[in-house]
Amino acid sequence: MNIFSRRKRAPHLGRYPMEKIKKVDRPTTLIIEDEVKRVPKRADGFMRADHGDFGKKQQEARNRTGSSTVKGAKVPLNGAFGDNMRPLMKLHKGEVAAEKAPISNDPEVIANNMKSLGYFLDADIVGICEAKEHMWYSHDKEGKPIEARHKYAIVMLIDQGFHTNDASTGDDWISGTQSFRSYLRGAEIGNIMAAYIRNLGYEARCHSAMDSEVLHLPLILEAGLGELSRIGEVVINPFLGPRFKSAVVTTNIPLKVDKPISFGLQDFCSKCKKCARECPVSAIPFGDKIMYNGYETWKPDVPNCTSYRVSNPKGAGCGRCMKSCPWNNEGILTYRIATWMAIKLPFTRKFFAWLDDFVGNGNQNKIHKWWFDLDNDGGKIIIPKATNEKGISPDKDEPKNHRVSNYTVDMLPPAGEKDPWPFDRKGGWELKNTLETPDEAKKRVKNK
Ligand code: SF4
Ligand code: SF4
Repeated sequence: MNIFSRRKRAPHLGRYPMEKIKKVDRPTTLIIEDEVKRVPKRADGFMRADHGDFGKKQQEARNRTGSSTVKGAKVPLNGAFGDNMRPLMKLHKGEVAAEKAPISNDPEVIANNMKSLGYFLDADIVGICEAKEHMWYSHDKEGKPIEARHKYAIVMLIDQGFHTNDASTGDDWISGTQSFRSYLRGAEIGNIMAAYIRNLGYEARCHSAMDSEVLHLPLILEAGLGELSRIGEVVINPFLGPRFKSAVVTTNIPLKVDKPISFGLQDFCSKCKKCARECPVSAIPFGDKIMYNGYETWKPDVPNCTSYRVSNPKGAGCGRCMKSCPWNNEGILTYRIATWMAIKLPFTRKFFAWLDDFVGNGNQNKIHKWWFDLDNDGGKIIIPKATNEKGISPDKDEPKNHRVSNYTVDMLPPAGEKDPWPFDRKGGWELKNTLETPDEAKKRVKNK
């Protein structure tokens, strides 16, 4: 979008032409809402690593993620982010003004005002949906029940930044920092928006990556900000790809909601598989989607992925799937044309995925490498013993017997569990063969 058209563009539309993407009544992946079991925060991958569910090594590594600069974060820059992020958690909630402010009571006017504020505060894309009951965690970190008390959610996507990502392998010493950059900005924007709504006399709470009572993924889908991808627990936006983190404000202020979107990603991901090929620990399935807890999804191997992200020995964190995805691009005109073709012309999708490999996207572009590779050895900052430097592998064959393990909600740790809750790897592999397919689920629901 050029400077001339942006001057004529209403502020609630933001800089990306999301209004040009096809709207649909329901997300493009099946969600059987009355079959979704709410899960406790304790069942989150990182929370499980904190409690030692994946072993001592991962637990110890987690203690260093984002811990303060002086206490020995794995990477000094992440420690600096951590010190700035933690105080923001205290501002997620607050007092509501006793009287309602004299503003319009038209939900569309208020929704546009909130979106414009989000863009003014530097959110990249904003959408609004209902915060339905199944989108809330069941219990908080301490095991206290969470009440689904707000009707609406304002959902914001924050770009992790293309150029630094372009220089990274996705699993080197800057990987985690890219996430932290978006977490920090998301928490700041969400806090200001929630406080503003409370000052107007309505309840509101910010839900950041550090402290959230809601699951961001179904909210992003419902607010029309993307489609679910092969990476599994990652949504892709047509303009940012998977290169974003989210922040959410839930509230009872009346708001006009958006609709989910459809831009052909289900078909694209069935033809691409680049993320599965490039994942260093083979946590992404090459096969078809399954039904998991009411959701149609490509279900990744969460313990494999989380263990690598927290204890990666040649870097800090991992986002190699995000880095290598063809939808993660610079957004310049040539890419914009290619992505529009992939959206509008299904027969070009396989070619676009091939072309992305052919031009070497997903490799490191070292022109933009600005950070120091640093590790922390017992409190002493050192040059790392090794650093991930790997490029993409277009010639790598799809493995013949690739398998990921899945775990039903009943196999996850219960709310407030303090002790390690080991996972049953063998049971998880066996379970994979028993899960319902989306077609079977659609038929079953139709015959109900
Ligand atoms: S974050 Fe890394 S380990 Fe996890 S699925 Fe993506 S590429 Fe694989
Ligand atoms: S890399 Fe390909 S298969 Fe994976 S999420 Fe991106 S488009 Fe889908």
